[in-house]
Parts: sequence; C-alpha cells; structure tokens
Amino acid sequence: MTLITNHMPTEELQRLDAAHHMHPFTTGDDLAKKGARVITRAKGSTLTDSDGNDILDGMAGLWCVNIGYGRDELAEVAARQMRELPYYNTFFQTTHVPVIALAERLAELAPGDLNHVFFSNSGSEANDTNIRIVRTYWQEKGQPEKTVIISRKNAYHGSSVASSALGGMAGMHAQSGMIPDIHHIDQPNWWSEGGDMSPEDFGLERAQQLEKAILELGENRVAAFIAEPIQGAGGVIVPPSTYWPEIQRICDKYEILLIADEVICGFGRTGNWFGSQTMGIKPDMMTVAKGLSSGYAPISASIVNEDIAAVLGACEFNHGYTYSGHPVAAAVALENLRILDEEGIVTHAANELAPYLKEKFESLGDHPMVGEVKVVGMMGSLALTPDKTTRAKFAADVGTVGFMVRERCFANNLIMRHVGDRMVISPPLVITKAEIDMLSARARKALDEGYENVKAAGLFKAMS
Ligand SMILES: *Cc1c(COP(=O)(O)O)cnc(C)c1O
Repeated sequence: MTLITNHMPTEELQRLDAAHHMHPFTTGDDLAKKGARVITRAKGSTLTDSDGNDILDGMAGLWCVNIGYGRDELAEVAARQMRELPYYNTFFQTTHVPVIALAERLAELAPGDLNHVFFSNSGSEANDTNIRIVRTYWQEKGQPEKTVIISRKNAYHGSSVASSALGGMAGMHAQSGMIPDIHHIDQPNWWSEGGDMSPEDFGLERAQQLEKAILELGENRVAAFIAEPIQGAGGVIVPPSTYWPEIQRICDKYEILLIADEVICGFGRTGNWFGSQTMGIKPDMMTVAKGLSSGYAPISASIVNEDIAAVLGACEFNHGYTYSGHPVAAAVALENLRILDEEGIVTHAANELAPYLKEKFESLGDHPMVGEVKVVGMMGSLALTPDKTTRAKFAADVGTVGFMVRERCFANNLIMRHVGDRMVISPPLVITKAEIDMLSARARKALDEGYENVKAAGLFKAMS
C-alpha cells in the first residue's frame, strides 16, 4: 500500500488517480492523458491546488459551498457529534437530537405549510424519495392510477436510475434507460429554442405544454410536475416572466402536485432562502440538498406540506436509507443554517453582492462572442454565439466552443463551468466584491483567449 499524501509530486498523484479512480461525467482516457487537477485546500472562495496555485471558485464546488470553505465551526460540530453519537438510525421507533432539530429548523425556513421532512443523503436520493412519496400519496387517496410525473427536457434531478429518468438529460437516458410513467415537456429556454417568439409568448407556450400533456395523458393519470425554479445544471436557464404563473395555474386547476427541486436554488442562491420565493410559486413539496450543508457533509431532504404528510402518516411508508437523517450530517447542516442566518449571509448576498455580481457579469455582454447574460441572485450564465442578433449556434458540435472557453478559465485560475455553449457561475455566497471583480476580469481574459482559439480553429461561424 502506498502512503499517499499532499506532499507527493503532482504527476505522481495524477498517475495514481488515473490508475484507480473513475471520475463522474468524464471521459476517463482523455483525463488520464492530461492528468486531473489536484485540489489540496480551500478557504473562503479560493481553492489551492497541488502546485500551489490559488483558484477562484466561481462554482462553489458543485453549486453547494454557499457558506464558503474553511468554516471551523462546522468541523467542530462534526467532531463533537461523532464523539457523542456518531450514528443511529431512525427506522425503528427511535430518533436523535440533531435530526429533530434540523427537521424543526427546515419546517421554520420553508415557505407555507411545508412542515414535514424526510431525509436522504443526496439530491438524487431525495428525488427518488419524491417519486415514492407522490405515488404512495395517490394510492392512499384511492387513485392508484395517478403515477405519471411530468418533468422537462434538459432538467437535472440527479444521477440514480430513477432521478436521471426524471431529469431530462438525453445523454443520461441513452446510457441507462428510462423508468415507467415519466413524461417530459420542453424547457423554457428562450435563447436556444424561442425562435421568432417574444420571451413572454414563448414562456406561455412552454408552460401550456404542461396542460396539453395532462389532457393527453389523462387528468386521472398525472400525479405531479417537477421542476427546478431556475434550471441549474441545464445551463442556468432563467424562464421568461410568464412561465411560472402559468405553471402554477395549471397545477392548481388539475390538482397536480408541484415539486420544486430546490437542490441548487435553495439556501440563498437566488436571493431568497428558496427559489420558489424568488419565482413566486407555491410548491407542495421541495427537494433540498447541496447548500443545506454547504457540501460539508452529504445530506438532502424532501420537505412536504401538511396534506401530504397527513396522507403518508396514515400508512406505513416502505422507504428509507441507512443514513437518512445521519446525526453528523444533520448537525453540520444545522450549524451551516445557523451561520447563514445569524451572520446575515443570505441577506447580504441578496442585497449587496447580487446586484454587484449582476452589474459585473452583465458587463461581459459586450464581448464579441457573448449573447444573452442572465444573473438571478448569486447564479448566472452567458450564452456564447457567433451571431448575437440571430442567436445562432456555432458550426461545431454543441459544447465544443464552451469547452474551449472553459479550458481558458482553468488556465486563468477561475472555475467557471460550461454547459454546452453556455458558461455558468454560482460562487460562494461569501465571495467579496474584490473577488467578484477578479471573477469578471478572469472571465473576460478567458473569453478573449477562447475567442482567439475559436477563430484560429475556424469555428467562429454560424451553423447553416
Ligand atoms: C445536483 C442536483 C441534484 C442531484 O443531487 P446529487 O446530490 O448530486 O445527487 C438534483 N437536483 C438538482 C436541481 C441538482 O442541481
């Protein structure tokens, strides 16, 4: 056995990584050739790699480190909880203090009568749980034929077999197949799919696809509609203003359960505690994960309203994970929520940082390769295009140009991801204004360098 430490040369760590570690959502052979970047430490909004480079994390890890890196309080709470009660389950008529306290706190924070919490360990598992909750709910109400869940193309709801089927990522469906009774409608992505329509008309058309689907599938068959208030992994797609009010109207009219997948939008990301508040919707259930613990421990939850809790409460719900409501993860999440609240991190991000980020990020809109720029709260995206007026796609496979710009971000010590040919950001909510300046300066440099490479490769032209 090799003793592997931070002090090993980077190439040696990369060689060992390539030899034994399979990376998620990665072409392993390509990565093995160039070597993964080895992250060794982090503080605030800054990562440090094994060569000593400081990298500004414009993505808060994977949209999750809302509180920033390096909070000792969370480490201390975890250590204390591990000593006191490292594990116990909540299956067999038992409970423990961290899970009681976290459920109570989430009921307090969540809007309306979303007052009951079922814990899982990841967003994927929580969405699997949601599928079981809604189908059980309708069975118990004497309507067992209500099993269909409607979702959207290009939605992200996780990577397990069920949650990836629920999501709308074609590449994932192609590899692992579908599960029964999931139906997808089109996404409200005006930039890419809006054609000649105004954003408002397009938003309505996309929302009304839900009504069409309900009528086609049969009102008696549709159990729920699930959506992210703002699509995250799909490219930070902000729906037109007409979209959500119409979706809410349709869900109310046909008594379809509305599930808000708040895994990214929750805990301050959009300028409120939850994206549902920002988008003005009243979900019956919410999925939360990521920012719940700021990524310091794996934990997620399904938060349901009084009605669903009452129906589920009357039967034995045959579901649960060994680590549902894990005491260490629950204690860490609770401490994270305490700090986000008591230090005013959510309100400071909403009132001070978000307007500044919007101004700085939108200033990139004058770049020759940048089309629309969208920022809501502390998440944003920009669309790359060879022609801003026609919103054209590049004459290359989708994502080719985005990847070329992402490479220049990496080279300039900025983590900004690409989703197809959109660049996305979601920095820690504790990023400073000086760091926002740095983020936009590095993003501009990466865009400039990417632009030169794109032109040199003959790719700066519209798809015909
Ligand atoms: C990340 C994400 C998930 C999946 O969460 P995991 O913890 O990776 O399983 C689900 N829904 C949304 C909206 C997400 O962004």
